Amino acid sequence: MKFVGLDVGGTFIKSALVINGRVKKFQVIPSLASKGPEYSINQIIRAIDVLVKDTQGIGIGIAGITDARAGVVKTSPNLKGWDDIPLAATLKQRFKKPVKIINDVDAICLGEWYYGRARGYRNVFLFTVGTGVGGAVICEGKLVLGANGFAGELGHTVINFNGPKCSCGNHGCLERYVGARYIIRYARRLLKKHPSRLSQYKKLTPAIIAREAKNGDSVAKDVFTRVGFYLGVGITNIIALFDPELIIISGGISRAGKVLFDPIRKTVRQKLLGEQYRNYRIVASALGDYAGIMGAALLFNKRICPD
Ligand SMILES: [Zn+2]
Repeated sequence: MKFVGLDVGGTFIKSALVINGRVKKFQVIPSLASKGPEYSINQIIRAIDVLVKDTQGIGIGIAGITDARAGVVKTSPNLKGWDDIPLAATLKQRFKKPVKIINDVDAICLGEWYYGRARGYRNVFLFTVGTGVGGAVICEGKLVLGANGFAGELGHTVINFNGPKCSCGNHGCLERYVGARYIIRYARRLLKKHPSRLSQYKKLTPAIIAREAKNGDSVAKDVFTRVGFYLGVGITNIIALFDPELIIISGGISRAGKVLFDPIRKTVRQKLLGEQYRNYRIVASALGDYAGIMGAALLFNKRICPD
């Protein structure tokens, strides 16, 4: 079986052929999101055009709130002007092939469930931590979409109602503490008071901070202790809610290793009710950039997605 899989984000469109679960011809092009939906849809068409020959269908994970059954993107914080866009119908007409769409984090979760870290598990929560913080739930062996397709959106759950203002207008959201730009902002604040190798870098990224933390830089380590603490609080809430056996963290910072995972696990141990009676693991994702593409191709697998 041969499908086109796409992972459409606010910055890049990643795409590839997925042939019997193997990724071929992986490519990345800009999504041109700031120019509006017409431009991004043209980029999506460009990405599909070079791959689509002899395939059985096109699966797309997209950074927005999607009505997967209708194939419509309802709205998106990352793709400007995407309100009620019938993406599946548009592409179906153009390519004369079946097209299925789903939220990008749900696609990543499907990929990790079928091919990656979550193989064989029935209760899983997956976090994506990048510019934004997203989530997806597999509960009792089924991906949970929710009544409106919004399930798992935990980036804007409040973990400190006296906390700083978030981009969504609320105060103290999880994303306000662990989103990439806030991690960088916090690192810069520490740099004003303490010497650190981080001050050599003109442009800081979470990946650079993670690397210096691994090298023993104390400011970088402090940053990840704090990020790990807040992620730990968010994960404690999720475990209390769903009791998953596996929590996966995906996105750039998931590669930080011990400097991130030690404070996460410590926080969960301290805060979770009945911790000693539970079986659960908190791990990094396995498939990286391929997860969303592989998950999008799985939308055609009847065993995983019966509708
Ligand atoms: Zn928020």
